[in-house]
Amino acid sequence: MKRTLVRNGLVVTLDGPSGDGQRLDILIEGKTIAAIGKDIAATDAEIVDASSHLVMPGFVDTHRHTWQTMLRGLASDWSLAQYAKGAHGTFKHLYGPADIYLGNLLGRIEALHSGITTMLDWSHGISSPEHADAAAQGLIDAPGRSVFGYSAHFGFPNNAPIDEDLTRLRKGLFASNDGLVTLALGLRGPQYTSMERTEADVRLARALDLDVTVHGGSAGWGKNRPVGRMFERGLLDERTTVVHGNTIADDEIGMMRDCGCSASVSPYVEIQMGFGWPATGRLLKAGIRPSLSIDTCTAVCGDMFRTMNTALIAQRGLDNEGIENAPDRVGMDLGCRDVVEFATIEGARACRLDHKIGTLEVGKEADMIFLDIEDPTVFPVNNPLAMVAVSAHPGLVDHVMVAGCFVKRDGKLLGIDLADLRRKGLDSQARLVERALAEAGADPDISLDGRWHPQTGDYSAAAVTNRNPHDKNA
Ligand SMILES: [Zn+2]
Repeated sequence: MKRTLVRNGLVVTLDGPSGDGQRLDILIEGKTIAAIGKDIAATDAEIVDASSHLVMPGFVDTHRHTWQTMLRGLASDWSLAQYAKGAHGTFKHLYGPADIYLGNLLGRIEALHSGITTMLDWSHGISSPEHADAAAQGLIDAPGRSVFGYSAHFGFPNNAPIDEDLTRLRKGLFASNDGLVTLALGLRGPQYTSMERTEADVRLARALDLDVTVHGGSAGWGKNRPVGRMFERGLLDERTTVVHGNTIADDEIGMMRDCGCSASVSPYVEIQMGFGWPATGRLLKAGIRPSLSIDTCTAVCGDMFRTMNTALIAQRGLDNEGIENAPDRVGMDLGCRDVVEFATIEGARACRLDHKIGTLEVGKEADMIFLDIEDPTVFPVNNPLAMVAVSAHPGLVDHVMVAGCFVKRDGKLLGIDLADLRRKGLDSQARLVERALAEAGADPDISLDGRWHPQTGDYSAAAVTNRNPHDKNA
């Protein structure tokens, strides 16, 4: 069995406050952390000198629409309704299996490169079994830990059944829960399907022993009580993650807590696109510690550092409102350690992987990242948690390890031909734009360079959020 000894790192274990910021060694045997301590002896191990690195658990992104990778920047100046129209209305149906494969592969690699060792791909670009297989294969071909959040026939609304295809995947490619890539259901839920379809989909997921992740309460959708309506039918449990939750009512947050649900906050997208303020503080007040997610690289950055920054500063802005009346207050309600935990162990909990990852502990699998602490942008590192939550950035991620194996070393991803993938990705992108222009008709201005501003039409916020999925059988 391969043994690796990480020597003298500035270690943030997140396993209790005493584990943060000490100079420690970490011994890894196979994929498992075998020992953490000072001056560990292991003569037959590969030695990795970590004296110039902060060593911590890899990040967990609990919600990313990875298929959209080649549309990066498309929606960075757009409203939510424009994103719905442009990414979903214009482009989604033009994706073939090869396009979704490349989007997922390149997006998963991007996340890994910036230290996201586990990523839940909220895969709502699927329109056929071939698309599903291609999306899954994109994750499998990238050397990270992923959850494939299958979400076929995602529309505004769409009630098409998924039973046959999800069962096929569970019995075939995803028969085991032990691999690096596992299956979950990205539930279209009350916002995009009828309650009958929502209930059938959740019952199917439970019968197949799958977790459920569902969008609930962004912008106007919160008015329709998405969480409350699932609660009434007994569809919430500890295997449910609610994404966003900005505009759900306080009693719905209470239902999430009482049922043991997880939460996924996507602070950057939520603020930018007008979903409402991130629910971080409201969740914490109710007793739910959220995970964090990127959501879509069409609009925002793909790394966890800026996501943590945004979560922290958004909540502090809310907490500090009126603070001029309390100038002598000591400390902040939300700390640096909190957001680092949201980005690691809380993400692991949301993916039901906290028995394997999320902290550095003996017996857990070694998913770790190594951040350069000598870089002038973070030197001197007086407070390791402040460095991670406030100052750090993807350029510091020198090494990444997943299940005891290095997948990135000295700044370079291992075993990946990036030049070849870039070329294939750009070919796919050109085909997508060509198909979109061929269909454009009255909207021939489609481009990815920032000049295109789609009219929202059927995708306007009012049109979409007031559309009742009960009435549709699209
Ligand atoms: Zn989403």
